[in-house]
Amino acid sequence: MSPKKKHRPQRTCIACREVKDKQALLRIVRTSEQRIVVDETGKAQGRGAYLCKQVACWQKALDRGIIGRALKAPLTDQDAEALRQYASEIL
Ligand SMILES: [Zn+2]
Repeated sequence: MSPKKKHRPQRTCIACREVKDKQALLRIVRTSEQRIVVDETGKAQGRGAYLCKQVACWQKALDRGIIGRALKAPLTDQDAEALRQYASEIL
């Protein structure tokens, strides 16, 4: 008999495609104003996508336009810059 396991939600990083615990990933979200921002609560309304807490994944996602494709919205230069800034500060 295995002890009751707590279900851990898993998500896929849009850059490296690895499936990980949600806690190991950061969520980005497309807001109702069509901005693309980091969702620090993980609960913001809107279409979301997940990235590893690794600079390499953020760079890949930003450099190859993966974020805009995943969220089906154009990533503006301003939002891209904010995401780069975020990644460089916390990752
Ligand atoms: Zn990744």
